[in-house]
Amino acid sequence: MDGVTGTVPPDPAAGRLLDEQAPLFTADAPRVYSRAQWKARAPKRPAKVLDRAPDHIVVHHTDTGNSTDYSVGHAFSLSRYIQNFHMDKRGWDDSGQQLTISRGGVVMEGRNRSLASIRSGDLAVGAQVLHNNEHTLGIENEGNYMRTAVPGRLWASLMEVCVWLCREYDLDPGEAIVGHRDYNETSCPGDVLYSRLPALRRAVADRLEGASAAPKPKGKPKGKPKGNPKAPPKPDGGQDYGNPNQYYQGDGDWPGLLNLNW
Ligand SMILES: [Zn+2]
Repeated sequence: MDGVTGTVPPDPAAGRLLDEQAPLFTADAPRVYSRAQWKARAPKRPAKVLDRAPDHIVVHHTDTGNSTDYSVGHAFSLSRYIQNFHMDKRGWDDSGQQLTISRGGVVMEGRNRSLASIRSGDLAVGAQVLHNNEHTLGIENEGNYMRTAVPGRLWASLMEVCVWLCREYDLDPGEAIVGHRDYNETSCPGDVLYSRLPALRRAVADRLEGASAAPKPKGKPKGKPKGNPKAPPKPDGGQDYGNPNQYYQGDGDWPGLLNLNW
C-alpha cells in the first residue's frame, strides 16, 4: 500500500485516550465497533456466510508494532491498515479476520458480515487459517507477542470476547480456543501469547456456567484442530485453489505489516 512509513498512520480525528478504568468490552454487553465506525472500505464481494457455528476460535497476533497508543482512533487506524494490506497486498476480498482487538482492548469487526453472523450463530467465512477457514473464526490481536507481554487491556478484552463467542456458539473453551500455529506453520500468535492460551481457556471456562467447570488438563486443546497443515491440498478441495482468500500463509511469517520490504 502507499505511504507505509513504519507506523500505523495517525488518525487526526481520534486522539481520545481510553479511560483506563472502564471496561471496554464485556461478554454481557459486547461492544464491537462496526466497520462503519472505523470507516472500512467496501469489500470486493460480500463474505460467504455458512449456516453453522465455527468449531474453533483462532487466536492471532497482527505482528505489527507494540503500540502504546491505546486510543480508539489508533484502533480504527489499525483496522483500516489491516484491511488495506489484506485487500491490496494479499489480494483478498476484505479483511481476513472476523474480529480485531487493539492493544488498548478496543474490539472491532473485521470481515464484513462477521458481527451479524456471530449474533445469528452463523459463520462469515474469513481468510485467516489456510485450509481451515470454513470452520474457524479468527481474532487478530494487535502487536507481536514472541517476547512481549500481553497488555492487560488486550487480555481482558480477548477473554471477554472468547466468553461471548463461546456463549453465542455454544463452544467449550477448553476445546475451541486454539492458536494459529496449531493449524499452520507459523509463529503466530507469538510464543508469549500462545503460552497463555491454557490460562485463557481456564479464564473463559470460569466465566461460563457449567462449561468446563471440572478441573481437567488443558495444556493442549482436547480436540485436534481439523485438517493437517502438512497435508497437500486435496485434489477435490476446490476452495483451496484459485481463491486468494485461502492463501493465508501465516501472519507470523510475514515481513510484518509495519515492516514491509516490498
Ligand atoms: Zn495468525
